[in-house]
Order: sequence, then structure tokens, then C-alpha cells
Amino acid sequence: MNKIDINKSWNYASAAEGTEHIQLKSKYDLFINGEFVKPSSKKYFNTINPANGEHIAKVAQANKEDVDKAVKAARKAFKSWSKLEPKERGKYIFRIARMIQERAKEFALIESMDGGKPIRESRDIDIPLAANHFFYYAGWADKLEYVFPNKSPKPLGVAGQIIPWNFPLLMAAWKIAPALAAGNTVVLKPAETTSLTALKLAELIQDSGLPKGVVNIITGAGETGAEIVNHSDLDKIAFTGSTVVGKLIQRSIAGSKKKTTLELGGKGANIIFEDAAIDQAVEGIVNAIFFNQGHVCCAGSRLFVQASVESVVIEKLKDRLSTLIIGDPLDKNTDIGAINSAEQLATIEKYIAIGKKEGADIYQPKCQLPKKGNWCRPTLFLNVSQSHTIVQQEIFGPVLTIQTFRTIDEVIEKANNTPFGLSAGVWTEKGSKIFKLSKKLKAGVIWANTYNKFDPTSPFGGYKESGIGREGGLHGLKPYLKFEL
Ligand code: ADP
Repeated sequence: MNKIDINKSWNYASAAEGTEHIQLKSKYDLFINGEFVKPSSKKYFNTINPANGEHIAKVAQANKEDVDKAVKAARKAFKSWSKLEPKERGKYIFRIARMIQERAKEFALIESMDGGKPIRESRDIDIPLAANHFFYYAGWADKLEYVFPNKSPKPLGVAGQIIPWNFPLLMAAWKIAPALAAGNTVVLKPAETTSLTALKLAELIQDSGLPKGVVNIITGAGETGAEIVNHSDLDKIAFTGSTVVGKLIQRSIAGSKKKTTLELGGKGANIIFEDAAIDQAVEGIVNAIFFNQGHVCCAGSRLFVQASVESVVIEKLKDRLSTLIIGDPLDKNTDIGAINSAEQLATIEKYIAIGKKEGADIYQPKCQLPKKGNWCRPTLFLNVSQSHTIVQQEIFGPVLTIQTFRTIDEVIEKANNTPFGLSAGVWTEKGSKIFKLSKKLKAGVIWANTYNKFDPTSPFGGYKESGIGREGGLHGLKPYLKFEL
């Protein structure tokens, strides 16, 4: 193979986005009943930029009393919101979607500053998709009777919604848009390391004129989340996050009237057959595991390569890794940004150490990492087997395990040998193989000759320990409705 060392022949000039025009307050209160109110706890925590450790703002810590205030506001608002003409509900949701589009650049910058993801991703994926979710569900608000004919769909009531830090605004959109379209009101809590875009969304919602109390956004860490889960006047808990917390939530609400959807962890298999278009597949491998620093529940974190093409795929993959640019999330050239928090970096490093200790071969490109902030090189682990901890457990970072297979049956067996079942990818020229695998793989989402493609119209969710219920598409409306037969 004729190799060109792109690193030596090309130098990218820095292309950092300016942040002068974004508006951030130094301190954020809780958004309850359409107003920003001080937390009863009087406590605030810091939100920092994971790329340089700099303090960005202070964020209120909601306690039990605050959760109760937010739930009461949502309960009161539910009376009129659920009775509002559905097409009027739809108009508000459309307005929120349009306003996100108008302020997209500011949202993208804040998302990257607060969470560490490359601006290219927040600009081209997170924020447009968040707007699309509101657009999509706005369209359904006045069509529920047609979607579920003769079933008299009715909203559930008040939903408590808890979201993670990997796609902060997008996850808020996944939760709020279908809930509102179905006529519910909500209390949403973003993750403690990435509260800012949810709080900017609260400002936008205030500007949109949405009736007070329909959306309440309160901030805090796990204890605040637990107060939401345990509140007695909620009809539904929608949670996206780790399987550990998902299990805790299920235990807490067992026996109560609350309905749940849980979108939890994953350990996606990305399967490359010998007949695949190898260059595209290599690009797909990179996108599957290094998109958003691997902080993706559906990441393709287990690679399965057909043995006959193993050496060529690995060589091309290593080459590609050497060209990835790691660094300033606000730089438009950046491919891999900062790890979201020091805690998450410690978790990833723990797994890398376990991988080495258990005898796997590690490969990392020799790229420079910034001095300050939380960084992790893209990492490959070769010579791993099914029993390795790094193959079995979710790492939630830029770490890929690589295994080989010879036959379809073998790869199906290996791919399904996991407690998770969220996603998978299949790379082959043969439609018949795609059909066979998509039937046999136990995963909620299976991509063929692509990976990490998201669309508001398509349902997303998992089997086994990856969760319960679906979000997105018509499937995503159902968990916010009850039916009178
Ligand atoms: P991760 O391990 O990826 O940080 P978590 O599941 O801990 O994911 O966090 C996802 C969301 O769940 C965050 O908003 C977090 O504050 C919240 N959370 C954490 N612990 C609990 C809990 N015991 N009950 C409810 N929510 C929680």
C-alpha cells in the first residue's frame, strides 16, 4: 500500500470558534413555573469546561422542596395544557423548534464548552437533531386520534425526566417534545456536569410564551434525581443514563402508579464482513466508537472483523487514527474533544488498566494531548476474547475492543453474548447478510453500512439491560399516553 503521511504533509491552522457573542449568566437558578427561582437549599455547584478546567458558571442544586415545587407547578399547568386545543399545543412546540434553530450557534458553542464535544458535532448533529425532534413531535400533537384510532389517547399527566451528560440538549428534546405533544407537563433534570444548554432551553421556553409550569427544569446531581423518582405525584419517569441507576429507579418505583421508560447502557457490536467496502467500513468504525469521545450508549465499542480482512482493516484503522485531531472542542478541525469529567476519565483509565492487566494488546496513536483538561487518546485493544472485562462492560469512552470471526453464526453468537442489547452495525455488500443479521442480533437499533445515524422518526431503545421502552418515532409517543378502550 502506498502510504501518505497526512500529518507530515498537512498542517491545519487553528480554526477556533469565538465565544464573545454567547450570553451566559454567572449563576443559574431553577426554572419552575415559568420563572427562575432560587433553590431552597441555597446551594450552588460549579459547572466547568472539561477541556481546560475553567469555571463557567454556578448552577443551583435542587432539593426535595424544590422538586416538590416543580411537580406542583407541572401538576397545576397540566389542567389547562392537557385541555388546550391540540393544534395550539403543536404551535408552541413548533415555535420552540424554530427558536432552537435561530439560536443554534449559541447552543452549539455552549454544548461544546460545557460538555467537551467537538463543535462540529454539536453544530451539525446535536443541535439540529434537537430542533428536528421538536419539529417532528409538533406535527403529531393534533393527529393523535389518527395515529391511535378508536383508542381515545389521553396524556398521562406529569412526567419526571432525568437525562445524561453525553447529548445534553438532544436528550432534553427527546424527553420534552413527545411529552408535550401528547399533552403532558414535565419536570426535567439535566446531568450535573452539563446543565447549561438545558438552562438556556429554559430561557428560550420562557421567551416562547409556553404557558407557565408546562416545562420545569431543575438542576442537581443524583440526589435530586432520586427526589424526582420518589416524588409521589408523578405519573411517569423517563430516564436515560447508566444501567446501575436504571436498576435503582426500577426498584424505587416498583409497585407505584408511575410508568417508566429506561434508556440505559450498551456495548454495540460493529461487524465487518470481508465483502464490505473496507475504506467506508474503517470510517464507520471510527464514527461508531470515537464520535462524542465514545460517550455514546449505542457506540460500536466491540468490533468484529472477519478474519480474512483483519490485517488490512487494522492497518487502515491505525492509519486513520494517526490523522484524528484531538484537542480544543471549539476548534472546527477537532475530531475528538475532551472527556466530559474527571470522574469519567478515571473510569475510562481504570478500564484501560484492566484491559492491559488481563493481557490484551493496546494500541494508541502518538498524538499530543493538551496539558490542561480531561483527555484520552483513541484506544484499540487487540487480542481480546469474550471473557475480557473490557469486552463485557460498558466503558463509555474512546476505547475499542477488536475480535475476529470466521462465519456468520459465530459472529451472531459472539455479538449477542452481552448483557446489553442496544445497537449493532453490519458492514457487507450482501443484502441477504444484512437481513439475516438484523433478525438474529438482539439489538434495538441495527445500522447497515453506516453507524450512529439518528432520526426523530425512528424508534430508539434496547433489549435486556439496555432498557425498557422506545423513544423517537410514533413509538416514542405511546409511553406518554394512556388509552381508553
Ligand atoms: P453516568 O454513569 O453516565 O454518569 P448516571 O446514570 O449516573 O450516568 O446519570 C444519568 C442521570 O441520572 C444524571 O442526570 C444523574 O444526575 C442522574 N442520577 C444519578 N443517580 C441517580 C439516582 N440515584 N436517581 C435518579 N437519578 C440519578
